[in-house]
Amino acid sequence: MKCEEASGHINEFIDGSFDNDELLGEYLEHICSCSACYEELDVMYIVSEGLNGLKTNEDISFDFTGSLADKIREAKEGIRRAKIKKRRYLMIDVGCILIIINVIAAILLDVFFWS
Ligand SMILES: [Zn+2]
Repeated sequence: MKCEEASGHINEFIDGSFDNDELLGEYLEHICSCSACYEELDVMYIVSEGLNGLKTNEDISFDFTGSLADKIREAKEGIRRAKIKKRRYLMIDVGCILIIINVIAAILLDVFFWS
């Protein structure tokens, strides 16, 4: 991902509206290796969190850098969990297909054996 594209995904990352894990992964990979984009995200995150704090009148944690790092860590963890879940579903699908093939084979053998 290039800086220009990464810049276009800042709001999606901040408000958590990324709906594509692959793209989110590319975005995270980019911001973790590009200090300019990380800084841009950091500034936008501080502004966004500050405004949200004013709007909701909640106590604001002023450790924005720490909370952004947590948000990035959580996003990476979410992607990792989604990959594991996807793999698990794939294994269940393969298992179901094998069972169906076994049942069909058993039925066919039964039909040929008794006919
Ligand atoms: Zn960049």
